[in-house]
Amino acid sequence: MTIIDGKQLSEQIKDELAEEVHKIRKAGGKVPHLAAVLVGEDPASAVYVRNKVHSCEKVGYKSTLVRRNATATEEEVLQIVHDLNCNDDVDGFIVQLPLPKHINEEKITLAIDPRKDVDGFHPVNVGRMALGLPCYLPATPYGIVTMLERYGIETSGKHAVVIGRSNIVGTPMSILLSRKSKTGNCTVTITHSHTKDLPGMVKTADIIVAAIGIPEFVTGDMVKDGAVVIDVGINRVDDSVSKQGYRLVGDVKYDEVAPKCSFITPVPGGVGPMTVTSLLLNTLKASKKEVYF
Ligand code: NAD
Repeated sequence: MTIIDGKQLSEQIKDELAEEVHKIRKAGGKVPHLAAVLVGEDPASAVYVRNKVHSCEKVGYKSTLVRRNATATEEEVLQIVHDLNCNDDVDGFIVQLPLPKHINEEKITLAIDPRKDVDGFHPVNVGRMALGLPCYLPATPYGIVTMLERYGIETSGKHAVVIGRSNIVGTPMSILLSRKSKTGNCTVTITHSHTKDLPGMVKTADIIVAAIGIPEFVTGDMVKDGAVVIDVGINRVDDSVSKQGYRLVGDVKYDEVAPKCSFITPVPGGVGPMTVTSLLLNTLKASKKEVYF
């Protein structure tokens, strides 16, 4: 069994990116510039954005944080998006979700110029992904296909079962695994809360992607010997022994499942660190105009 070390891989990719930025700088080229918009005081969102800005600095990108408190109006946020769309120095930007309830997230996402949508959430990018055209892939699925590629995991002809159908993880993951590509060519089953006999379905999988948000949902008896298991879940469970009073677990019961797998991602240290790295990869693509010309 091989543990897919997302932390180590993301550090390796960041080193590669830092090297590339160094070369760009030396050649007098444009240094990639990512902007992040944070509205409100949600502590988890603040941590995510801080990580993104910190990662930019680490690889030598330029980063800008646009911060507003929770009372910002929808018009104000739309104006920020418009300004970033028009700012030639900004290659790509993200608006951290969730937004305060009075702001329509769909309206904001649609207002982002798809050429700068490095989160890959705009319908134009989602559509291009489904068609196999150049696009910005959503960060978490992008991180997962990068792990499959870098660990040389064969996907062609395999049966992949994706658990969960969210717009940011399950659905794009099912599309990417089924596309004609190096980390695609799978036969994909997408399962969700209405699926009948989900454990039986998962048991037939060569590749399992668990993205439901239920702690340790996938147990050992649901997994075939030799399966590849990608655990996307990040769940807090009470733990009186830990200093914070909680610990993080995935959607997979690791101790039971790991001994049966050929490859598995741990939580923490698996999919999570790759998500921010994917955003950096998308930003580099944006600055090099690799996706849209
Ligand atoms: P979501 O709540 O948007 O979607 C969950 C999906 O699971 C839904 O499609 C739902 O139909 C399905 N589901 C719920 N209960 C189910 C059940 N009993 N049986 C089968 N399917 C069921 O969640 P999400 O945004 O896709 O996130 C999923 C998990 O991944 C969460 O723990 C989240 O914190 C984590 N996550 C991690 C990263 C990362 O970078 N590692 C990124 C995004 C999300």
